[in-house]
Amino acid sequence: MPAHRDFVGPAMAQFDYDLFVIGAGSGGVRASRMSARFGARVAVAENRDLGGTCVNVGCVPKKLFVYGAEFSGAFDDAAGFGWAVGPRTFDWPTLRDNKTREIQRLNGTYGRMLSDAGVTVLNGTARLIDKHTVECAGKRVTAASVLVATGGWPTVPNWPGREHVVTSNEMFFLPTFPRHIVIIGGGYIAVEFAGICRGLGADVTLIYRGPVLLRGFDDGVRSFVTEELRNTGIRLRLDTDVSAVAKTSNGFRVTQTDSTTIDTDLVLAATGRAPNIAGLGLEEVGVATAANGAIRIDEFYRTSVPNILAIGDVTDRLQLTPVAIAEGMCVARTLFGGQPSTLDYDAVPTAVFCQPNIGTVGLTEAAARAAGHDIIIYETQFKPMKHTLSGRAERTFMKLVVDANSDRVLGVHMVGDAAGEIIQGLAVAVKAGATKRIFDATIGIHPTAAEEFVTMREPRPSR
Ligand code: NDP
Repeated sequence: MPAHRDFVGPAMAQFDYDLFVIGAGSGGVRASRMSARFGARVAVAENRDLGGTCVNVGCVPKKLFVYGAEFSGAFDDAAGFGWAVGPRTFDWPTLRDNKTREIQRLNGTYGRMLSDAGVTVLNGTARLIDKHTVECAGKRVTAASVLVATGGWPTVPNWPGREHVVTSNEMFFLPTFPRHIVIIGGGYIAVEFAGICRGLGADVTLIYRGPVLLRGFDDGVRSFVTEELRNTGIRLRLDTDVSAVAKTSNGFRVTQTDSTTIDTDLVLAATGRAPNIAGLGLEEVGVATAANGAIRIDEFYRTSVPNILAIGDVTDRLQLTPVAIAEGMCVARTLFGGQPSTLDYDAVPTAVFCQPNIGTVGLTEAAARAAGHDIIIYETQFKPMKHTLSGRAERTFMKLVVDANSDRVLGVHMVGDAAGEIIQGLAVAVKAGATKRIFDATIGIHPTAAEEFVTMREPRPSR
């Protein structure tokens, strides 16, 4: 383990700040606050709203939209329980503007948290002049350490007509809600917005170039979710791609590679995100980046220029808010807490807030096999109790990936109501190295869906 002095030289006082953070998103804010709490003199630069992607155009407003979208299913479910729900109308400006007000409240909270911690907030675009000098809002300041936490930015493929599409950034501020939307992509953002738009009443067509959505997730989850999304009425066009987007008199026309066309009110490209490095001056100061623009870092988040560090989506680790926050804490501890720290990237849980939700932690079946584990799979799918009366066709899927030799539970995967909430708890068990025997010895909570995770006794026959 390197010593603290390897990270911060003795000459911090010669600089204006001990730490200059570029980007006040989830990672940057946490690193700033924690470093200041350790006594460091910290400045953070932000050229948009405080809180970054997660707070402004990501996790938080997305989840508020998901809550809004899930009402339509709940209204449908109610009849089987005796409720007569009257005519329903959805007013997009109400949801959009209530969301924006809540986000503005959070922006204010972030500002107060930073100033209460003694962090100087600079509004402007920061650029590295040399390894200790940053220019922001027309001023040059120096810092012993610089942390780049500028996140990512949506990318749109080079289709003819790409200027006609929106990205997730714009989805949060649409002037009008579309009657029909074409969503391109098969990752987190595509499936989450497909669910949101469907729930809020749009006709949704999702175009994905692969055969099954959500590459990287467990194959059982992927095929199950693909079918469930289809059951909610989302039109899936799989194994096909987009060749062009054009403007028409009353909307847009999407042409697919098989030459079929779809006319629509709105086209959302959810085709991935790229590290946000433009204009930072990284190359000039010698900070190395990978081919995709991600800043290369070592296990202590140091770039090729060791006093310049980087965390979060601008690097090539997991693009998840809690990961960026944890990395920010590691940097603060390393630089100012006297304790070089790095994050354990094993068994990071994640959720996708489509309908039904996905929650997952640990290894997929394929990854466990690839890692050389001899594995036993426990798997179940069932109609959730609520839908015995609601009549909704939705089903729940659960899967445990267990190491046959050690009995350790390597992965837990779920598609179903509240999967994110359920998997968060089980992630503690996976992180603690729980065995299947411990799962079996755990008493279920009845009647819940989650109890299935401790009552699966019969392994899936090996294939
Ligand atoms: P993802 O990388 O998850 O998905 C991108 C999708 O676009 C993939 O299906 C990919 O296909 C497809 N794609 C990429 N390039 C092209 C192209 N040229 N033409 C057609 N399709 C293309 O990115 P997202 O933008 O959805 O999300 C970015 C990241 O943000 C996620 O990986 C996740 O880490 C994070 N995130 C987390 C959320 C959460 O925690 N709930 C929510 C939203 C985002 P293919 O699979 O074939 O490569």
